[in-house]
Amino acid sequence: MGLSPNALMVFGESPIMLYMIFQKKKKSNYELSNEIVKIDFPISGLAYKLGKKLMSSKDEEIRQRLSDELLDELADLAKIDIVNLKISKAKQYHKKYKGKVVLRQYGYYKPDKKYIYINNRTAVRGQIIAPKTFLDTLLHEWVHHYDHCKLGLDSIHTSGFYARLTDLKTKLGYYE
Ligand SMILES: [Zn+2]
Repeated sequence: MGLSPNALMVFGESPIMLYMIFQKKKKSNYELSNEIVKIDFPISGLAYKLGKKLMSSKDEEIRQRLSDELLDELADLAKIDIVNLKISKAKQYHKKYKGKVVLRQYGYYKPDKKYIYINNRTAVRGQIIAPKTFLDTLLHEWVHHYDHCKLGLDSIHTSGFYARLTDLKTKLGYYE
């Protein structure tokens, strides 16, 4: 038996949250993460504009300011806690093997601290990373935050995770 729209209003939760509440006991973290392929909030004109501005931004100070604004706006729209963000001038953490970079870290998210860290410089030469790479990393880490705060998931890289990320990017006009 389904719930009527009025019943949803009584609960005061979005449909996706109700879905999570009802499914949580039955399904694994992996299954839930895989099933949800969309973000459940609309993108505002401000978020769209900030995404566009970030695509032509470069240095740490400007990227920090625009990203803070964008992530605050996304948290408002998703009705979740804001995240603390650090855009670092440090080079990407990396490991070399036989003179080649075999591992590089673009950024990370710490769910317990609600904290995102991003390196704005490439691993070896320390050049500013391309806008697309930067925005990819920023939104990737933010979807981990969304998974944690909104969906109550232990956020892992399932195909559902990447689908949510693509949905967010599409709605932000990333592919235009
Ligand atoms: Zn990740």
